[in-house]
Amino acid sequence: MRVNTLKRVAVAFALALPGAAIATVVAAPPAHADGCYTWNRTLSQGRSGEDVRQLQIRVAGWAAYRDIVKIDGRYGPETAAAVRRFQSAYGLRADGIAGPQTFAKIYDLQDSDCTPKHFSYAELDNGCGKGGWSGGPLSPTATRQNALRTMWKLEALRRSLGDKPLYVNSGFRALACNRQIGGASESQHLYGDAADVTSRTSSLCQVARSARSHGFSGIFGPGYPGHSNHVHVDSRRENNADAASNTTVWSASNCGI
Ligand code: ZN
Repeated sequence: MRVNTLKRVAVAFALALPGAAIATVVAAPPAHADGCYTWNRTLSQGRSGEDVRQLQIRVAGWAAYRDIVKIDGRYGPETAAAVRRFQSAYGLRADGIAGPQTFAKIYDLQDSDCTPKHFSYAELDNGCGKGGWSGGPLSPTATRQNALRTMWKLEALRRSLGDKPLYVNSGFRALACNRQIGGASESQHLYGDAADVTSRTSSLCQVARSARSHGFSGIFGPGYPGHSNHVHVDSRRENNADAASNTTVWSASNCGI
């Protein structure tokens, strides 16, 4: 937060000066990501490493229609295309190369706990109100990591829907919680990678249709039993170790899906 404040002060100062002072702002060193993560090099196709993986988590919501961005630490064509879509969504030069401007936008979008600024861990935590990420089939760490990836996809979806709030009614559910509310026994909510969302500005069908281009391999909405008042999105394709579940399942017949 301190960095952002300083940046704002610097911009205000520069704006108060004529001409050349603007260049000083443009040439300023890249912002740092507070307590989260800082990228130290420009990334493009062919690169690999933890910094690529961290980038992939943040652009996975910009996958192509019906596709996903694999979080594998390798900067391939899918990652480049997702970076291009991210850049274009935020008015940056869409070259598919993640450099200072792309990272500055990511820093601007993320909180110090690495969540995107419009979603929080608390919002995605245990649907029965207990919290803590435990009690599911995965470790609390893996569950929480899945929730983080879900949030970055939701941030992308939100951007595409005009940057208006999306509300998460239910995220991670522990096994006991899922039984209690009668969730499906193999529900993706158990893994932390699902969210039930609503909107006050977009119809549920708009949400469901748009979700198809934001890396969600599971989408259930109006027309699917039990989904008349929310849209369920999940990432079953990349998060489920069971090969038989490694697929895309969409159903919202009232929306033509
Ligand atoms: Zn759901």
